[in-house]
Amino acid sequence: MPESLFGKTLDELNSMSQDLGFPAFTGKQIAEWIYRKEITGIEEMTNLSKKTRALLSSRYSIGLQNPVDVQESADGTKKYLFPGTPGKFIETAYIPDRKRATVCVSSQVGCKMGCLFCMTGKQGFQGNLSAGEILNQYRSIPEWKSLTNIVYMGMGEPLDNLDEVLKSLEILTSPWGFALSPRRITVSTIGITPAMLQFLENSDAHLAISLHTPFDDQRRKLMPVQQVYPLQEVLSEIRSWDFGRQRRVSFEYILFKNLNDSNAHIHELSRILHGIRCRINLIRFHPIPDTPLNSPDEKSILEFREKLNAKGITTTIRASRGQDIWAACGLLSTKKWMNKE
Ligand code: SF4
Repeated sequence: MPESLFGKTLDELNSMSQDLGFPAFTGKQIAEWIYRKEITGIEEMTNLSKKTRALLSSRYSIGLQNPVDVQESADGTKKYLFPGTPGKFIETAYIPDRKRATVCVSSQVGCKMGCLFCMTGKQGFQGNLSAGEILNQYRSIPEWKSLTNIVYMGMGEPLDNLDEVLKSLEILTSPWGFALSPRRITVSTIGITPAMLQFLENSDAHLAISLHTPFDDQRRKLMPVQQVYPLQEVLSEIRSWDFGRQRRVSFEYILFKNLNDSNAHIHELSRILHGIRCRINLIRFHPIPDTPLNSPDEKSILEFREKLNAKGITTTIRASRGQDIWAACGLLSTKKWMNKE
């Protein structure tokens, strides 16, 4: 299979052009064709000579891939599946919401992190996605031109695939790429401290950290990462990082019934987040097979939000979307994957 052009940074396109003996400006021209215009083949790059196009086509393809499946929820949310490694699938969610339209991209197929509440974690790890495969989830859904936001919250831990994630962010935000504002992009992590610091250093995108409980012993049970990169260490780095006025840090908090929804949790959250300019997004847990965890009712979610707000922590509830189409992270691809086995 020819190598893909889509997903290469300008530096990579320049060095490829140099290796193939093309004029110096060819890399920039190719970047414009693949990221700023809509073409389906190299032969459409009409400002490149015929000879250049022929040589390029003999080794490369554009590399865009259409989804192989889509399911649409009654609320307008769509789940797309893109082909991954043979027999495996990349899951992408499109979430329209009044003035916003968000795409939620995956960064890996499966995941190594083993969070107790996550279906993707139960799949195990099958591989990292390339920058091209990450970006293809944005560029190859039919709604791509109407998208207002991109979140890295699909399958996988983005900061466990740091190089490709950083490359994809560079292409999304560079003037030679899609030229999107980094303020429209949020990368979510469970808190891999060294990779998080590299991400903060090398990108201006927003950061979301999966918190889920402020207590060390409980977080160890829910999220094995706590044993290696404890939340305390993550928060201490966040506290000392200058986020500036525009960049945002937020915390994701999945609420589980009778587990992390007590007053003690409110109290401890307000203590450990003290002094950090942030907000908390509450997410209702939706049960997945083979977990002892349960979903809270609407009233307790509202109460939890009110109590956090009363403590001075801006707290919102993320609306549950697409429940009728396997909305939880990893469920759709798992279903498809299991059907294929
Ligand atoms: S929640 Fe995220 S990091 Fe944890 S297992 Fe699932 S995909 Fe991996």
